[in-house]
Amino acid sequence: MVVQYKHEPFTDFSVEGNKKAFEESLQLVESYLGQNYDLVIGGERISTEDKIVSVNPANKEEVIGTVSKANQEIAEKAMQVADSTFQTWRKSKPEMRADILFRAAAIIRRRKHEFSAILVKEAGKPWKEADADTAEAIDFLEYYGRQMLKLKDGIPVESRSMEYNRFNYIPLGVGVIISPWNFPFAIMAGMTTAAVVAGNTVLLKPASTTPVIAAKFIEVLEQAGLPAGVVNYIPGSGAEVGDYLVDHPRTRFISFTGSRDVGLRIYERASKVHPGQIWLKRVVAEMGGKDTIVVDKSADLELAAQSIVASSFGFSGQKCSACSRAVVLEDVYDQVLDRVVELTKELTVGNPNDTTHFMGPVIDQAAYDKVMSYVEIGKQEGKLVAGGEGDDSKGFFVQPTIFADVAEKARLMQEEIFGPVVAFCKAKDFDHAIEIANNTDYGLTGAVLTNDRANIEKAREDFHVGNLYFNRGCTGAIVGYQPFGGFNMSGTDSKAGGPDYLLLHLQAKTTSETL
Ligand code: GLU
Repeated sequence: MVVQYKHEPFTDFSVEGNKKAFEESLQLVESYLGQNYDLVIGGERISTEDKIVSVNPANKEEVIGTVSKANQEIAEKAMQVADSTFQTWRKSKPEMRADILFRAAAIIRRRKHEFSAILVKEAGKPWKEADADTAEAIDFLEYYGRQMLKLKDGIPVESRSMEYNRFNYIPLGVGVIISPWNFPFAIMAGMTTAAVVAGNTVLLKPASTTPVIAAKFIEVLEQAGLPAGVVNYIPGSGAEVGDYLVDHPRTRFISFTGSRDVGLRIYERASKVHPGQIWLKRVVAEMGGKDTIVVDKSADLELAAQSIVASSFGFSGQKCSACSRAVVLEDVYDQVLDRVVELTKELTVGNPNDTTHFMGPVIDQAAYDKVMSYVEIGKQEGKLVAGGEGDDSKGFFVQPTIFADVAEKARLMQEEIFGPVVAFCKAKDFDHAIEIANNTDYGLTGAVLTNDRANIEKAREDFHVGNLYFNRGCTGAIVGYQPFGGFNMSGTDSKAGGPDYLLLHLQAKTTSETL
């Protein structure tokens, strides 16, 4: 029997030994910075002249690694390998596939701080955030392995006398995995292994800003015994390789996490049936969010303020789940705002190489420019009460920024910024607060701080988000505990880390034998 799933604990860095171990891992990672990573197709290493250069967003001079870059010709080769490997992989035993995930989880656990240290360098994650990302990667492997063991015999259906009916799940085929840079380990590993443990083969195109952690994960999968050709590693440009594979007639499904614009583009393109294509492609998409924390007048206001700060500025607000709108009842608005400003002014921003800073950089120049342009928009739409400054001379640093008195429908309240900017908006009463909370195109996460049971029930029914939290912040879903995914323009409500996620990578087959 496989032991019961339990989420991976986070590291306590106030323990001197843990701090020291992490510092050593950072040194280890520093010793191999700048290496070159090849594409991996059917187990074969392929080097291209054209490279993606991965740099540290906290220090633009520091190259994390260079990675070969796939083009259409290479993508085609990878597709053929994945397609032919599928014919054997689909028949492999689910138990064996799950065992590979469990072993990969064990390998990562043993080198946990090393992977987190790569995330500090490549994604600019503060230690705690990097540690949580690695823990979540482990969780996905452990959880999806177990989920496959639960699904492997299908679900019982009725049989009449003289017949034996069975209802089983079989894999789909070749999947294209397009993963994000904000959880470059956890989400990349989760999307990839959910597909693979279900018996599919995949083409993994990681985000171009964080390809090195994905290359390291490929090494782990190989070490864990994953056969060649099941996961093919093909970083490349979205416009060139991404579109080509999304359009490809042999692509059976696309699993995407990233921006709304790219998600919509994939969804549209995938709906077109190309010559030679004999199925309707499936799209699993996790897109953006414009997430709200609602503070009721009955709330614990200190808890509310702390929840807003942590959810808005953790990893510089670069989570789909991040709080970017605080909707506070007018009775307690000033108190909550003042306390959030006070707490925010205590936060420091800087290179996450050591533990002294709460916040690191944003991911790249484009992100920096976008966030700073929203700071300018915010100055027109609200009152700047904290932050508002940026510095991109060395890395892409933005101060945690708060705008007060922003109108319900202002751009700052509607558009995803994906940075450390939060807008405060006043609500007349609780109903009004929920109305504001629901007034965006998105529906990913939300939180309500209240001690009023009736308001909890109201929010449970009417606050239309995929992940709703009470009396806490709106980030930090745990695999297997809080399945994660949203409504409306946040995606296909595919709940990563949930009991039905693997089904999105499977199709049901009924067999009926007359006895
Ligand atoms: N699962 C993460 C959380 O709950 C967010 C994932 C994302 O940003 O895509 O905070």
